[in-house]
Amino acid sequence: WKKLIKIAVSGAAGMISNHLLFKLASGEVFGPDQPIALKLLGSERSFQALEGVAMELEDSLYPLLREVSIGVNPYEVFEDVEWALLVGAKPRGPGMERSNLLDINGQIFAEQGKALNAVASRNVKVIVVGNPCNTNSLICLKNAPNIPAKNFHALTRLDENRAKCQLALKAGVFYDKVSNMTIWGNHSTTQVPDFLNARINGLPVKEVIKDHKWLEEEFTEKIQKRGGVLIQKWGRSSAASTAVSVVDAIKSLVTPTPEGDWFSSGVYTTGNPYGIAEDLVFSMPCRSKGDGDYELVKDVVFDDYLLKKIRKTEAELLAEKRCVAHLIGE
Ligand code: NDP
Repeated sequence: WKKLIKIAVSGAAGMISNHLLFKLASGEVFGPDQPIALKLLGSERSFQALEGVAMELEDSLYPLLREVSIGVNPYEVFEDVEWALLVGAKPRGPGMERSNLLDINGQIFAEQGKALNAVASRNVKVIVVGNPCNTNSLICLKNAPNIPAKNFHALTRLDENRAKCQLALKAGVFYDKVSNMTIWGNHSTTQVPDFLNARINGLPVKEVIKDHKWLEEEFTEKIQKRGGVLIQKWGRSSAASTAVSVVDAIKSLVTPTPEGDWFSSGVYTTGNPYGIAEDLVFSMPCRSKGDGDYELVKDVVFDDYLLKKIRKTEAELLAEKRCVAHLIGE
């Protein structure tokens, strides 16, 4: 057996976690020979529900799940964790301004960043799911100066998966034929699903899908708004597919990226080769050797359409950053 790894999950009583925790416990994420401990972070208000989740996990008799613990203090829950999956966040209420939401959630992520800085493994990998996830991730990393900024991610993998699915449907191929799919920028309606660099059966998308108007107008908007459309239909936000995409995001970091391909993640922009503003968390194309780390892909191309869209999502993230200046020491 490998050495036990400790994984913290916040918002553990919520809907996404209800799928995610069982995937982690089953071994499908870290492998069938990797024992894990799950450390669930909740709040006073969710404590009973957290106890219920822990009971269900225990009753499932997963052979790899060696410990389940629950808590409301991030300084206890994050102790020695090697992964922190930060799902919990306050949802946007009716009439709530975006800046309000940024502030309320920012406080949560500032505190969690400080706690990670104090007690987590020095090499902890952090995936922020709770929205607005890019800016929450930026706040978190700024409050954890002793942990490499490179270790923080904002989840845009669900957007990547959605984009691959729509391209595959349009081209009439199975979705495993779509590769090199980048989501640029913010996990919001300004995100940019990049059909210029994406490939279908190894060919540029624009050579396979000749309807370029569809790509520029329908496809792009469909991906940008898919989360909202799903909320309208379901009456709640995507939970199962989000959990699947968290699993995909972790697997992409712990297994070598297939030759020639890449994946998207919201990562720290400082030192990026694309000319994107420094000091943001921005979704970009990444490759991994499978050691939990990543490097940015260099051989991507840009055209006017793509650059214009990237500037728009960059401007949105810069505006979000200004709203939380007080939480990032600026
Ligand atoms: P739920 O509402 O089911 O659960 C979220 C958890 O967040 C709750 O259990 C609650 O836990 C916690 N929470 C709620 N309010 C607060 C607060 N004020 N402070 C701290 N924690 C709070 O939501 P989901 O699981 O469906 O979604 C979780 C997050 O993920 C949301 O922010 C959502 O927008 C985001 N999301 C992100 C996606 C992405 O692709 N990046 C896709 C889909 C969703 P407790 O009571 O224990 O604090």
